[in-house]
Amino acid sequence: MKPSADSPEELPPRDTLRRALREVRISVTDRCNFRCIYCMPRAHFGKNHRFLSHADVLRFEEIARLARILRGMGVGKIRITGGEPLLRRDVDQLIAQLAQIDGLDLALTTNGVLLPRLAARLYAAGLARVTVSLDALDEAIFQRMSDTTMSVRDVLAGIDAAAAAGLHVKVNTVVRRGCNDGEIVPLARYFRGTGHILRFIEFMDAGTTNGWNRAQVMSAQEMLAQVQAVFALHALPPNHAGETARRYAYQDGAGEIGVIASVTQPFCEQCTRLRITTDGRLYTCLFAEDGADIRALLRAGQTDAALRERIANVWRARADRYSMLRSAQAPLAQNALRAGMSYLGG
Ligand code: SAM
Ligand code: SF4
Ligand code: SF4
Repeated sequence: MKPSADSPEELPPRDTLRRALREVRISVTDRCNFRCIYCMPRAHFGKNHRFLSHADVLRFEEIARLARILRGMGVGKIRITGGEPLLRRDVDQLIAQLAQIDGLDLALTTNGVLLPRLAARLYAAGLARVTVSLDALDEAIFQRMSDTTMSVRDVLAGIDAAAAAGLHVKVNTVVRRGCNDGEIVPLARYFRGTGHILRFIEFMDAGTTNGWNRAQVMSAQEMLAQVQAVFALHALPPNHAGETARRYAYQDGAGEIGVIASVTQPFCEQCTRLRITTDGRLYTCLFAEDGADIRALLRAGQTDAALRERIANVWRARADRYSMLRSAQAPLAQNALRAGMSYLGG
């Protein structure tokens, strides 16, 4: 019998605002080969920073088991992230395990520099899609934002390698006013006609370490206006309900771009995303104060049913809508993402 709407067995589970659990981001490492100033500023993630130990980190079998349980609960999409997920040794073996789960849409977000080495293996393992983060084409701006000596060329080579391997590629650009807002049009021009969808993301108040203030946020509306001043665009309908990006197509058929207005037009009402940290904590919001420990249950020999019940209970108790409250608040609460993007996976 199909469970009724109010049944505790309803799948996927729904939270207190009736949002279904549909999508999960799993962070597979808290380490990174970049030190993006808005994510892992070197002053806080320097030599003395204590990253998670090997024992703390969820093993591939544990991640795959959680993924199977989540799929059984109605989750349709899993995104692998980090830190930099391609630093996780043999990450393609994890992909191979996840790719066996029926009906799961699997994607991975990366800074791209290890893709020339790994793209073919990831594709062979069953990955279909990658999102590559790239904040600027200008070398000096790129290196300043990512605080790296790597080059834009390394990321572009990663994007090319991914496409050549058969992966579908999207490109994400976080726009910080006064840093890389002059890169919006060059990036749009570069990716037009490549088949790769470029998405511009508003800079969020993530973590207590990135010195966020509202003045650094360029609104999606402004970003769009910059592109529209050069290329004619028309709006496209969402691909699916709850899609975070607003889509636009170039009038001349040269492809599509998107904007993600996480700050100025928050989409908490449609947020169906759970995050699992590298050490196995369940976060129901990017801005949640803490996460529920699932690793302890995994390692205590609990049954799948017990794990499923725990995840469902965490989701059912969920009331998060931080971005909507933030936009309603004056003055704005600052630096409310305590855990940090590199821990939560973006
Ligand atoms: N290292 C990978 C990468 O950079 O793609 C995956 C992890 S990273 C935390 C995931 C995404 O979060 C990246 O696209 C990054 O630009 C984004 N991000 C980090 N800090 C952000 C912030 N303060 N506001 C908006 N996006 C942010
Ligand atoms: Fe690393 Fe990605 Fe964070 Fe940059 S945004 S520091 S690449 S985890
Ligand atoms: Fe989802 Fe929290 Fe972001 Fe709102 S603030 S969209 S609930 S992660």
